[in-house]
Amino acid sequence: MKDKRFPSELEALWKEDDMADGAKCKAMVMIMRTNGCCWVKHGGCTMCGYREASLMNVTPDDLQKQLDQALSRYKDEPFVKMYTSGSFLDDNEVPPAVREVYFDAFKGCKRLLFESRPEFITSDVVGSLPKNVTVALGLESSDPEVLRTSVHKGFTPEDIRRAGELLKDNGLGVRTYLLLKPPFMTEDMAIEDAVRSARFADPFSDEISINPLNVQRATYVERLWKRGEFRSPWIWSLIEVFRQLSGTVDARLMSSPSGGGAMRGVHNCGQCDQRALEAIERFCYSQNIDDLDVKCDCIPKWEAYRKSEAMLGSPSDLERDFENELVLRM
Ligand code: SF4
Ligand SMILES: [Zn+2]
Repeated sequence: MKDKRFPSELEALWKEDDMADGAKCKAMVMIMRTNGCCWVKHGGCTMCGYREASLMNVTPDDLQKQLDQALSRYKDEPFVKMYTSGSFLDDNEVPPAVREVYFDAFKGCKRLLFESRPEFITSDVVGSLPKNVTVALGLESSDPEVLRTSVHKGFTPEDIRRAGELLKDNGLGVRTYLLLKPPFMTEDMAIEDAVRSARFADPFSDEISINPLNVQRATYVERLWKRGEFRSPWIWSLIEVFRQLSGTVDARLMSSPSGGGAMRGVHNCGQCDQRALEAIERFCYSQNIDDLDVKCDCIPKWEAYRKSEAMLGSPSDLERDFENELVLRM
């Protein structure tokens, strides 16, 4: 049974590697408990399970206690990430006065990252942010139709462009998230969409993080997945996106897939998943395409899968829907 979740306690905290000032470094990651993403009231995004992490009654005092917990474990990591399962710049999640306290607590670190929807990124707010801030923007796709119908994002790519340019004009960092394989897309469509979206985001992004869709609980995507109407992307597709983009964008390309290698996350045949994910991790730091040179017998299967999808005109999970041999040999 799930433990009772207290609003004064962080959801989670851990340390991991990331980059600051062009060098690999340690980062402290805090998952905060807040009143949750404002967009959830409107149904939320089709792949987002963050409503599970949100509470209704988080007070400024609770947020202060969460900060105290984080500080008790802070070892001067140069990079700090503060995730709220929503928007750090939404006053309803983190009131401005509390934000100031958080900024002050981490004023000594090189990079301070948080996420925000673009509607909270106004000139006034941006002008008040400290210069070590990087804002993570969930663009997902540069195709307005994909955002509207497939992701149900509630804003347009132009909203993100405006926010990204405003942040850059103020000397702040931008990490843009793209969603690899929103629902209703085949692997080929997903690769093409991610590559096009990265080119759109490049002018206002320091980093572009490609996030392969991971099927989260109690989401619309989970319903599709359970009915066999969605397969999380292949790791080969993620590698293909990096291949096509490598050397053609200025932003650093990266990906930290959640659920990588599992059925709900980005996966290949099961034999090569770990190797392929490690190759991606190396590439994220080196940006050297040679690091992605992984091989496995399942590459022809991935290619056949893509051809079958194109032939059938369907993004259903062909591995589960049909006998593998029948469809994938076509
Ligand atoms: S993906 Fe982001 S904007 Fe969409 S519902 Fe989740 S937290 Fe809100
Ligand atoms: Zn394989």
